[in-house]
This record gives sequence, structure tokens and C-alpha cells, in this order.
Amino acid sequence: MVNRMPEGTTGGADPAPTVFAIASRHRESDVVTSFVLRPADGSRLPPFIAGQHLTLFAELPGRGRHKRNYTVSAAPNGESYRISVKREAAGTVSRWLHDEASVGTKVGVGAPAGDFVLPVDSARPVVLVSAGVGLTPMVAMLEEVARSHAPRRIHFVHGSRDGGAHAFAGEVRALAKQADAQVTVFYSQPRSQDVAGRDHDVAGRVTVDWLAGHTPLDEAEYFLCGPLPFLRDMASGLAARGVPRERLHCEFFGAVDDLFEPDAAAAGPSATSAAATVDARHARASAGFTREELGAALLDSAADAVVASDAAGDIVLWNAGAERIFGFTEDEALGRSLDIIIPEPFRARHWEGYRETVASGVSRYGAGDMLAVPGLRKDGARISLEFTIVLVKDAAGTVSGMVASLRDVTARFEEMKALRKAVRERTDA
Ligand SMILES: Cc1cc2nc3c(=O)[nH]c(=O)nc-3n(C[C@H](O)[C@H](O)[C@H](O)COP(=O)(O)OP(=O)(O)OC[C@H]3O[C@@H](n4cnc5c(N)ncnc54)[C@H](O)[C@@H]3O)c2cc1C
Repeated sequence: MVNRMPEGTTGGADPAPTVFAIASRHRESDVVTSFVLRPADGSRLPPFIAGQHLTLFAELPGRGRHKRNYTVSAAPNGESYRISVKREAAGTVSRWLHDEASVGTKVGVGAPAGDFVLPVDSARPVVLVSAGVGLTPMVAMLEEVARSHAPRRIHFVHGSRDGGAHAFAGEVRALAKQADAQVTVFYSQPRSQDVAGRDHDVAGRVTVDWLAGHTPLDEAEYFLCGPLPFLRDMASGLAARGVPRERLHCEFFGAVDDLFEPDAAAAGPSATSAAATVDARHARASAGFTREELGAALLDSAADAVVASDAAGDIVLWNAGAERIFGFTEDEALGRSLDIIIPEPFRARHWEGYRETVASGVSRYGAGDMLAVPGLRKDGARISLEFTIVLVKDAAGTVSGMVASLRDVTARFEEMKALRKAVRERTDA
């Protein structure tokens, strides 16, 4: 799984960050923005290899110093690094970069490192397979091949939810032309304005079956990057079809949202499951259930918390699941502010989003997106929550409140944190 690094390059992270300034920022898609970073003192950059990642140190006003890894999404040029960051719904650093960092903002940067790079000693075809923001190392590698005019057969395979989420569409097609590479783009949920043959090549998800039919399994090096379920599917599927481990190269970004959420590209109900859902709905209707009965059963259940709040953010509905998860009884919760379940450091950010949503009537998470945030129990314990929200509007379309359906995922979150740490340690080793 691990590539050998050409001589003269660093295989370990530089512990002393250098001061860089954001030289420019570019919107790559609805969710991904690129930041070009230049050394603040104008010095030249050390060499690195396309596919490697740097460590970014950000000083967030009032929130301290944070360290995150970001792949350099463009080939080395000696002058700047480009990183391309997906805005995580409640992410600390990605939100700061998207919402607050601007041209001139200073950050610390550790030298690029990592072994997710093209092997120098192999002339085998290369298949770059990514989902979502996992395409950043692939873009850098494609640019490197395009620039070097190395005689390499490259197949760039990318899965995105739709044209809005698809980053680097034009850049990849242009680089592929120069590198004589083949590009296949999958949209799992194409929008009406996404045109097959122009914006995407295939409607649906990237599958191992597709790779088996369209790429040379018996000789290619496979580079895989994306959310964990996608990586797991691809790596185990390719291995099951006989691709030996040394030809499988995986990069895991470790974003918690990606682990929890079924990824845009990897998700999307199949035709069969959609049909099964419709059948099941019909079956239930004919069995005499009414929507009111089903709704009441859901609300009365202690499985998930259902919490409704009015436009001011005061709790107006608190079900048995909320009692179980947060420890407050219905009497204790009704009429109180949602602050009772939000850890103090997250309140300002929460209310900013809440007020904006009430005023605009539009939630960026209103389409069923799963959010992952820390929560607070009555006994003061911090828990990890996944939730979806629904806006409640009056006849005039004004937002009168919101309903959240929340699940306690603390155990899974802690497991993922341990996994991320292990991956980081292995990457840094
Ligand atoms: C080698 C490598 C390369 C990478 N390259 C890229 C890249 O090119 N582009 C890119 O966008 N990312 C990349 N990443 C991921 C990046 O390092 C960050 O993990 C990502 O930007 C999220 O950081 P954040 O500070 O915004 O979110 P964090 O604050 O770390 O939170 C992550 C998510 O977890 C949720 N969360 C936080 N706390 C809790 C809690 N207590 N309970 C439940 N949920 C919680 C948040 O909602 C958030 O969405 C890379 C990672 C690695 C390891």
C-alpha cells in the first residue's frame, strides 16, 4: 500500500511551521474553496511531491490554535501551495477558512509530507479514483503528469453528488487533455440542469464493477481517496477481484462528517431500494395506518430525540427520546432555550446560524443533510450528536420554528476519533 519516495524529499512532517499568507482564494464548487498560500517572507518553497499534504496551523480569534492536514491540490511550483477545503457543517478550521480567512490572513504551514504519491519506479497505468473532496491529491497528480509529459496512462475517475458539488470540473478536463488522460465523472444525484455527456459521464455511484469493466485491474496502480465507506468499498472490492495490496494506495482525510454521513458520491438510494420504499409505504397505508398515528408513534418513542423550538429558539416540544438522551424531563425542558443542550463554546455559532435561517427561511441543511455536533447533557457530560432539521413555516411562509431529530453517536464518534489518531500517527511516522 505504501509508495517509496524519490530521494531528496521529506517523508515526515516538518515540526516547525513557517508563516504563510493567503495570497488568493477561489470557489471551486458549492462546498469547496481553494486557498493559495505563499511564504510571508517571499522565500522559495522546498520541493514536495504531488499527492502529499501539508499541516496548517490556524490561530482562530478567541478559539485558540488549531492544526489540520490539507492535501496540496496543485503540482509543485516553488512559490505557493494551493489547498482546497470542503466546508464541514460544524467544522472548526474549515468553517473559519471559508467564512473568516481572507487574502492576507496569516497561517502556519508545515512542509508537505506523506506517501500518497505516484510511484517513480513503475510504468504501470494509474487509476485515480476519488469521491467528494477526495479528489484534491488526484488533481495535483494529474497536473504533475500533464506538466512532465511522462508517458503514463492515467484514468481519472471521480464521484460527486451533482454539478453544484463538483469541484475542479474544467481544470481536470483541461489537464486531462494535456496528459492524454481519460476522465470519467459520476454524479450520484444529477440535478435537472446537469447534462450527461457534458457535466458528467455516468449517473450513479462509482462501483467496483464499473472499475473492473473499464480499467485494467490486472496491471494498474489504484489510488483511492474519499470518505471511509467509499474507501472501504473500493479497496476491499478491488482486492477481492485480485488487485494485490501493493497496487492499492489509499488516502483517508478523516473528516468526521464524512465518516458519519453516507457520502454524496457513495450514497444515493438505488433504484431497487427506492422501489422497495414505495412498496413499503403502500403496504403500510393499506394496513390502515394513518400519517397521524405514525407521527405520534415516532414522537412518543424514546429511540431518537425530537426537539422542536420556536422562532426565538425556545423549546416547544421535547419527546421521550430527548429525555433519555439529554436527561432533562419534558417539564424541565419546555420553555427553556436550546442553550441547555448546546455546549457553551458552540452557542454563539449556533445562534448565528439559527437567526439567519429564521430570517431567510432557508436552511442550508434543510434537505435532509446530517449534521454532527457536540451536545450537552443535564449532568454536564458532553455527547456527540447527529441530527437533521426541518423548518416549520406558517401559511405566509415565515419560519415559526424548527424540529430537530437527534441521535446520540458518542460511542461511534469516540471510536472514529481513535481511528483518526491512529491514521495520523501512521501518516506522520
Ligand atoms: C492526510 C489528510 C489530508 C486532508 N486533505 C484535505 C483536503 O484536501 N481537503 C479537505 O477539505 N480536507 C482535508 N482533510 C481533512 C481536514 O484535515 C479536516 O479534518 C477537515 O477540514 C475538518 O476539519 P474542521 O476543523 O473543519 O472540522 P472539525 O472541527 O475537526 O470537525 C470535523 C467534523 O466533526 C464534527 N464534530 C466536531 N466535534 C464533534 C462532536 N463532539 N460530536 C460530533 N461531531 C463533531 C463537526 O461537525 C465537523 O463536521 C485532510 C485530512 C488528512 C488526514
